[in-house]
Amino acid sequence: MSLRFPDIETEKRFRDLLNNINDLVTVASPEGVFLYVSPSCKRIQGYEPHEMEGQSAFDFIHPEDISHVAKTTNSLVSGEYSGSVVFRGKKKQGGYVWLEATGNVVFDKDGNLLEIHGCARDITDRILYERELERKNELMREQGRMNEKITQELLREKLFKESIIEYTPTGIAALDLDLNITEWNPALEKITGIKKEGAIGRNWLNIYEGARGTEAHNNFLRVLKGETIYMPEREFFTRHGYYSTYLTPLKDDSGKIFGMVSLVTDITEHKTNQLMLAEQKAFLRQITDHHPSILYVYDVIAKKTLFVNRELTETLGYTIEDFGDDLEGFTFTIVHEEDHPIIKARLKKFHTAGDDDLIDDEIRMRTSDGRWLWLNTRTIIFKRTPEGKVWQVLGNISDITAKKEAESAKLHLRNTEDLLRKKEEFIGIASHELKTPLTSIKAYTQLLQHSFDTLGDDSKKQFIERAATYVEKLNKLVEDLLDISKIQAGRMIYNMNEFSIDSMVHECVENYQRISAKHIITYSGESKLMVKGDRQRLEQVLTNLLSNAVKYSPAADRVLVHIAAEQNQVRISVTDFGIGIPADKQPHIFDRFYRVEGAPSYIPGLGIGLYISKEIVTRHKGGITVNSSKDQGTTFSFTIPAVSHTVKK
Ligand code: ADP
Repeated sequence: MSLRFPDIETEKRFRDLLNNINDLVTVASPEGVFLYVSPSCKRIQGYEPHEMEGQSAFDFIHPEDISHVAKTTNSLVSGEYSGSVVFRGKKKQGGYVWLEATGNVVFDKDGNLLEIHGCARDITDRILYERELERKNELMREQGRMNEKITQELLREKLFKESIIEYTPTGIAALDLDLNITEWNPALEKITGIKKEGAIGRNWLNIYEGARGTEAHNNFLRVLKGETIYMPEREFFTRHGYYSTYLTPLKDDSGKIFGMVSLVTDITEHKTNQLMLAEQKAFLRQITDHHPSILYVYDVIAKKTLFVNRELTETLGYTIEDFGDDLEGFTFTIVHEEDHPIIKARLKKFHTAGDDDLIDDEIRMRTSDGRWLWLNTRTIIFKRTPEGKVWQVLGNISDITAKKEAESAKLHLRNTEDLLRKKEEFIGIASHELKTPLTSIKAYTQLLQHSFDTLGDDSKKQFIERAATYVEKLNKLVEDLLDISKIQAGRMIYNMNEFSIDSMVHECVENYQRISAKHIITYSGESKLMVKGDRQRLEQVLTNLLSNAVKYSPAADRVLVHIAAEQNQVRISVTDFGIGIPADKQPHIFDRFYRVEGAPSYIPGLGIGLYISKEIVTRHKGGITVNSSKDQGTTFSFTIPAVSHTVKK
């Protein structure tokens, strides 16, 4: 490539100059092809000039920089811009070098672009330096921002700590190694009555003159040696009251103790309440312990007795320890078995009871020395859970044994009086019942005696027969009375034999029909069963029922007797259409000496027939029942177990 110089000498000088300058000088065609590249290109980009000459200048530029270099060149050509452009030049050995280039353009005389001259300088160091500088600046800015944040946080923390110290109800004092006060917060002013101004800077031993050698002083010294001490209760020298104090050493970053802090909490109110509560408890305990009945509080949920007074031991002889963990279980072992349902029902009642409901029961409990006591247990709901479930119940148990005994003595007396009255009534009735036939017998025998000679044989026979009937009645009465005393003494003798019940009933009905003038006795059914029993006694039962049926149906004229087999027993029923028995009287008619009041007084009776009948039937392992309605009639029926085989024909 040849540069156009006026003469050789000038060109040589110029070449020397170009060869020796640090900057890269280039001449390029209007198309951007290098026409000349100064030798410094070897030092700057590693290429020999001939390696670049004839090549497009853009081949030696970083691809990302090509467009803005082209743009700058265009504005240079158009004359719009003549400043420098910074870009990265490609290095032969790889990598890039930062270049800052200026240029100018040469035109021919017709104004056509001839050449583009460029001069580029390696500014890599400068760029790197600028970059580093920028990085450092950014780093510093970041550091600044962080410092600002930390400062803010510290400030907040300080404020926070200060406000805690300021407003906490805990008294805070800080002391140095010589016990000089360095901190004294408002709460402590209140607790001690000493103002901050009067405390800060002063020595603790000067403030509290009597403190030297006290436990508090010794504790302070121990804390300054590294201990942390909690004093749960401490009296203050200047104030009456109770305080808890927490003492702990203050250490610097290296762990060296430089003082201590004392945290003081006023517990006077709490302590006073505690004392009052203890007093109240003692008071209550005194009252309850002298209360004449057992008082207790029971936790229904935890199944635990929370309180019980001394009367438990006084009355029942047990201690709360005897009840152990299983209170309900133990209770069942000492409550009378017959009263267990009451206890069970009571435990259920707890859960449904209203606040004002009294749960009142009377139960029997065994004392520790084996006596049975009657107790009245009265329970009310004492406390509920926040959800309204019964939680605790308050109970009062009083010994009502004496009252119960008096009641039963009274009942016994009433029963005895009743019996006595009944006995008197009975004697009255019995005398009357015995007297009536006796009077008749007496009358007939007197008649016979006085008029024996004048009376004809028929009349004599008639009188003797009548007297004999009354003797029979009398005999029956006396036998019944004897039966009563036999039953009472347990000396009724039964001659048990197997016999056909159908034939016994049949015979008995026929015999009775013979002496019944008015009533027709109809017999129906058959059992075909054999029974084992005292035939005479069973006849006595049926006769008694027949005689009652006739006696208590004066207006009727028939009586029905029915016999039937029923599973493995026989049932015999006697139905009348008489005065009936009111329903409320029916349960008593088998009682001794019982007669339904309001029955016509002309119907004789002692109230012992059904009693004897029931006794006989029961002894035969059978049953006797009544079915009756007033003025409609009555059916008595009794059953007797059959022996396994039927009647042999
Ligand atoms: P009494 O000798 O009084 O009849 P019972 O023991 O045989 O004694 O009967 C007891 C009571 O039952 C009778 O006094 C009577 O009031 C009532 N009674 C018994 N049988 C009948 C009946 N068939 N109809 C109505 N009342 C009867």
